[in-house]
This record gives sequence, structure tokens and C-alpha cells, in this order.
Amino acid sequence: MSGSAYETTNKYLQDGFDALGLAPKTEHMLKTPAREVRVELVITRDDESLGNFIGYRVQHDNARGPFKGGLRYDESVTRNEVQSLASLMTWKTALIDVPYGGAKGGISVNPRELSTGEIERLTRQFVETTHEFIGPTTDIPAPDMNTNGQVMAWLFDEYSNFHGFEPAVVTGKPVDVHGSVGRDAATGRGCMFALREVLNHDGDTLEDTEIAIQGFGNVGSWAARLLHDKGAIITAVSDITGGYYDPTGLDIPTIYEHVSAEGDLESFDDATEITNQELLTLECDVLMPAAIGHVLTEDNADDVQADYVLEAANGPTTYAADQILTKRGVTCVPDIFANAGGVTVSYFEWVQNIQHFSWSEEEINDQLEERFVNAHEALRETMATHDVTMRTAAFVNAIERVRQATEMRGLQ
Ligand code: NAD
Repeated sequence: MSGSAYETTNKYLQDGFDALGLAPKTEHMLKTPAREVRVELVITRDDESLGNFIGYRVQHDNARGPFKGGLRYDESVTRNEVQSLASLMTWKTALIDVPYGGAKGGISVNPRELSTGEIERLTRQFVETTHEFIGPTTDIPAPDMNTNGQVMAWLFDEYSNFHGFEPAVVTGKPVDVHGSVGRDAATGRGCMFALREVLNHDGDTLEDTEIAIQGFGNVGSWAARLLHDKGAIITAVSDITGGYYDPTGLDIPTIYEHVSAEGDLESFDDATEITNQELLTLECDVLMPAAIGHVLTEDNADDVQADYVLEAANGPTTYAADQILTKRGVTCVPDIFANAGGVTVSYFEWVQNIQHFSWSEEEINDQLEERFVNAHEALRETMATHDVTMRTAAFVNAIERVRQATEMRGLQ
């Protein structure tokens, strides 16, 4: 049994608590979400029928700053999954050291079955029902699975209808609508920095490293392009329609062109077709899940052939799978480190919005890189002092920051 997403996150968190030896009361306080909002969203469909959907916003912790985290549109969205993702955001923002807490939102919907107009109405409904709980100094959403700059622009616009001009209420906006250069690529770029640091530590480089990537959306496609540019060999990519494999390396720019033109990978005919399951167990140096959660389980962890699993997606590895991989000597680069690039540049976007001033892409990318280098160094120190995996070290470093902020602000 792999357990729920929230159970998985709490087990990883517990390993961090155990390494630190915290008091049970402190653990309980750090683990429990501060607020959970569940809303019913009713929209008029294009055919005049009513569409009925459930949305969530879970605000996990705000000891270090406003709640912060993405908004996901997917059929798989449940309260449990959003609780897990919100908690991960608390630890991610602390680990990469941006002054935020953690939150996450989601709507249980298959956006592929909705028209653009219906998605806009759904987004505006979500804001109408949650605008009292979000805001530039309270809770700042961002893109996640199946949401993008356009959805963030609607969110900003609708929130401003209630509260006046407030671009800092949401990040991941298009550059023309108060977004930041470099935000679109940020999560993929962060994955590239994380992998580079991990490989360098082990005496290796990105060049000629063979990488299989599951998911070719915002995160997967940017990671693939940036890693390809650095000389890595991307042997496989996939999306919800299936995967493609070429052991000598895929032509990533051509694949990206195909997806930009067709909307997905389907019918790309210049490589061997594989399933998403097959991709996970291919022979490669690095496996990068960049789509959905719980894809690595106790059923396939023994078959993973990669030396490294870089978690570009949130929560791709079940607790049982993590134990199997660790035992087999596979290094798991945990999500709260690997995919923290998005929230880092979201922070830079928020700062620019508040200052009404724009930074250059070079400045954004340099500052992003610096945070990854620093976070990686801190991880290595904690791995050595506590004799723990990189994942537990990540939780230890994050928990310590959140605990200190909580205690310094005062417990009542
Ligand atoms: P996206 O919607 O842009 O892309 C998702 C990709 O996953 C698409 O290629 C889609 O076809 C594929 N996919 C969906 N269901 C699948 C399935 N069942 N099997 C295989 N592939 C499937 O989303 P994204 O923003 O790239 O997010 C991907 C992951 O990265 C998520 O776990 C998200 O939480 C995480 N993440 C995203 C960001 C961000 O800035 N967007 C930041 C941190 C973490």
C-alpha cells in the first residue's frame, strides 16, 4: 500500500522531526495546516448547462511570511493531495530561503474538457469564493499543473475587481501583465542547477549525462531544453499521451516545436514509442519525474535503473519506494529542493510588483543560481552532521527555519 499523498509527506516530515528530536507538541504544530478552505464552484457551461466543481485552498504555515503556493486544475485533485502539496510548500520556501510560508490550491476538474471561456469563468469563480483568504501579504497563488500565465492573469484581474489594482496577489503572470522575465523557465532552470550541483559533488557534470523525463509541460519541457543546451543527453520524454525514447538522445528542440504546434507529444514519429511506466525503468543516469505524484512506488522502485531520481514533480516517490531506492544506492534529489526554482522566481516577481520595478533576466537567473548553490551546500552539511539522506536533510534544514521563526514570533 502506498498510502495517501499527505501520509507520504508526513512520513518524510517525521523523519526530519526524528533527526532533530523535537517535542511532540512542536511537531504537531508544525505538521498541522493553519486553515483549509473548500468551495463549491458553479459556472454556466457554453451549452448553458451548469458545471459544478469543488475547489480547495489549504494554508499550511505562515511563520516565515505570507502563505505561498500553486493552484492546480486536475481531476486527481483531492483535499488530501492539496494538504500534502501545501505542507511541501512550507518546507520548500524555508529550504530555499524565501520569506514565505506554504499553501496550495486546486480545483477538481479535467480542464481538457472545458473551453477557454469556461476555464476563465471557473477561475473567476474561484477568486470570487476565496478572495477574502488570499492577498499580496496573506496568501499568493501561482501556476501548477494545468494552470499557466493566462490563468494567473485572470486571477489577478478578478482579485483586483474586489480589492483594486494588486498584481502582487499572484505570481507566474505573463510578462506583459506584471509578470517576471525568467519565471516561466524558473522551475526547470532550478532543476538544472540542482542536478548540476549534485553531479558536481559526485565528481560528474551535466555533459553526456543520460536523462529520462516524465512530463513535458512547463517544468519538464524547460528542464529538457535547458539540460539539452548544457550537453545532457535526453533519452526519453513523455506526457499524458505517452512517451518517446531514443538511447542516442532525442532532438529536444524539434520535440518542443511539435508540442507547441500540436498541443502534446502524440504522433511525434521520430523516436520509439514507450509507455509512461516503461520510461520510469529505462536505463539512464538520471530519472526526472516532472508530472504527477506517486509514480515511483514499491511496485517499480526495484526496477529503476537510474543512479539519481531528481524530483521535478511534487511528491512523485512514495515513502516505501524511497526506502527501496535509498537501500539500492539511488540518490533521490527531493522535490522541496529540486523544484524550488519556481517559488524562488515567484518571490522575485512579487518583490518587483511591490517595488513597481523590473529586474533583468540575468539578475533573476544569477540570484536563482545563488540560492540553489547555497541550499545545496547547506544540505551537504546536514547530511554529514546528521548522517541522513538528502531528503531528510532537506526537511531538517527547513523544519529548523520554520521552528525558529515560529518560536521567535511567540507561541500562545
Ligand atoms: P503542466 O500542466 O505544465 O505539465 C504537466 C505535464 O505532465 C504535461 O506534459 C502532462 O501531459 C503530463 N501529465 C499529466 N498527467 C500525466 C500522467 N498521468 N502521466 C504522465 N504524464 C502526465 O504542469 P507543470 O507546471 O509542469 O507541473 C508538473 C509538476 O511539477 C507537478 O507535480 C507540479 O506540482 C510540479 N511543480 C510545478 C511548478 C511550476 O512552476 N509550474 C513548480 C514546482 C513544482
